[in-house]
Amino acid sequence: MHQSPSAQIPLRPITDSHGLEGRKIHVRLTEGRFQNLRRLISWPLLALFFGLVWMQSNGTPWLLFDFPQRRILLFGTHLSWYDLHILTGLMITGASLLFFVSMVWGRVWCGFACPQTIWTWIFIRIEQWTEGRAALRQRQEQMPLTRAKLARRIVKHTLWMTVALLTTITFTGYFMPIRNLVAQLASAEASTTLVGWLVCMTLLTYINAGLIREKICLHACPYSRFQAVMMDDQSLKVSYNAERGEPRGAIKPYSATKLEKGTTGDCVDCNICVQVCPTGIDIRDGLQAACIDCAACIDACDQVMLKTHRPTGLISFAAAQQQHSQQPPRFWRPRLLGYVAVTLIAFSSTGYALVNKKDLVVEIRRDRDSLFREFSDGSVCNFYQIKADSFDPTLTQMHVSVSGQDGLVLQGPETFQLDNSGEWTAYRVCLMEPAGGVLPITFNFSDQTRTWSRSSSLITNTGYQQR
Ligand code: SF4
Ligand code: SF4
Repeated sequence: MHQSPSAQIPLRPITDSHGLEGRKIHVRLTEGRFQNLRRLISWPLLALFFGLVWMQSNGTPWLLFDFPQRRILLFGTHLSWYDLHILTGLMITGASLLFFVSMVWGRVWCGFACPQTIWTWIFIRIEQWTEGRAALRQRQEQMPLTRAKLARRIVKHTLWMTVALLTTITFTGYFMPIRNLVAQLASAEASTTLVGWLVCMTLLTYINAGLIREKICLHACPYSRFQAVMMDDQSLKVSYNAERGEPRGAIKPYSATKLEKGTTGDCVDCNICVQVCPTGIDIRDGLQAACIDCAACIDACDQVMLKTHRPTGLISFAAAQQQHSQQPPRFWRPRLLGYVAVTLIAFSSTGYALVNKKDLVVEIRRDRDSLFREFSDGSVCNFYQIKADSFDPTLTQMHVSVSGQDGLVLQGPETFQLDNSGEWTAYRVCLMEPAGGVLPITFNFSDQTRTWSRSSSLITNTGYQQR
């Protein structure tokens, strides 16, 4: 749909012109309310990521993508590949929620909750612990390599690799039980494939969060490319108040006439907002696609404003329309209502599907080589292969029986072990002196409290010849 020009956000594209290519950004860490908010969001998320993988009930993990057994363990529920629509519903719910958040608050997901950002901040903090503050690191870069500098670098890279390895082991623990994984590594019994996977993922994490950091956000993340489509001129974005800040200039005592034509604006041109920016941009150049709305520049600039006795908020979350009008941005817009509707529909459909999901998937195949066999005692038998997968942790075995005709005899294991091994089990169903025809029969599978039935048929010689 075509948007009116006033509703579009003029975003500067990501280009080489902002000088990021080939330049290492030494991010200066800052403090402030948004950095506290980031900690408030990222620490619980980190605790969840590193802790959830160890959680289990009666030996069953709370969350496990169990590909070999074709199931997902999700907080006591087992999802099969027959429940893909539930996963799709969960993804649609997540995506529409993300669109909703983006339309209201811009790229706060990127700035506050994205794993790439959280890990990047961890790696930057390690860099500061080992090599000192950003200005010192920048100066050190020009200096020759001394023993002390080399030692600090070795410690930094070792810590980075340690975090990357712990991250990889934890991530892998969501795909194979973490206790088995750690036991295999501890006893040096891990397969070559597993070790290769761990090495590759550790290197990728180390490179992503340690070496190329913002390049991922700028060049590899698809979300940064289509974010502008989701936002409108009412969306809040980290913005510089040029009317108040310009013309920028060196510090002068705060004056009531500061905004008069010809006098200096509130921006003291200290450049600290650029130094704290993890993507290395200058927010004073206007809205940019490279800005991840992390709000580090807001915290840094607020500190400068306080020190220079100016009102805070020179950089703040503001809507594009506020540049032209004093009106606060409208919260509810038609598209936002659409996102809410999609979220609610997807969420309730997913909940319904979850409540009504299949606990047992049974496949019954007839033996194609021998549709029926007659025996000298007058009985006719059919041959079947049965496979069953359980997606209920309490359903580990079941009793098998057959009904539908008088005198039916089932030959084969009466108790079916539900170990999700993917193995087929052979059964034979016989009937003494059948009346003829293709007779309907029912296979019944039951545990102590529940019964599942699957229809099938018994082909007798007469019936088969008649068909
Ligand atoms: S931190 Fe604030 S005062 Fe300093 S350069 Fe940036 S906008 Fe101007
Ligand atoms: S401009 Fe500000 S909000 Fe945007 S990425 Fe840089 S520091 Fe974060």
